Amino acid sequence: MCHCRDCQRRTGSLFSIAAFFPLDNVERTQGTSKSFTRPSASGFDVTFHFCPDCGSSLWWEAARMPHLLGIAAGAFADPGFPRPEQAVWCEDKHDWLELPAQLETHARNPLKVPPDD
Ligand SMILES: [Zn+2]
Repeated sequence: MCHCRDCQRRTGSLFSIAAFFPLDNVERTQGTSKSFTRPSASGFDVTFHFCPDCGSSLWWEAARMPHLLGIAAGAFADPGFPRPEQAVWCEDKHDWLELPAQLETHARNPLKVPPDD
């Protein structure tokens, strides 16, 4: 769950939620996407893929985590999808938004270094 202002602008909402999967475990089977790349609040580029017909967010690739693929949790359209494990960039979170007490929160985004190959 990311509250950074870039995600607020991109989603048109207060935060984005991604489910991250090992890149090797994901296969695109159909359809097309368009993408754009921008620097993230952490300073690393992120490439966002979206549906060229309706503009829905689909997935993103973060340069600082090249072994993972972030898929927009809302794209699963599954109300039973597991809740987020952590919230990042909480320093930009809207004050009135209350997060679950069990959620791991970070003022910014803790730097994770990709595993060595
Ligand atoms: Zn963000």
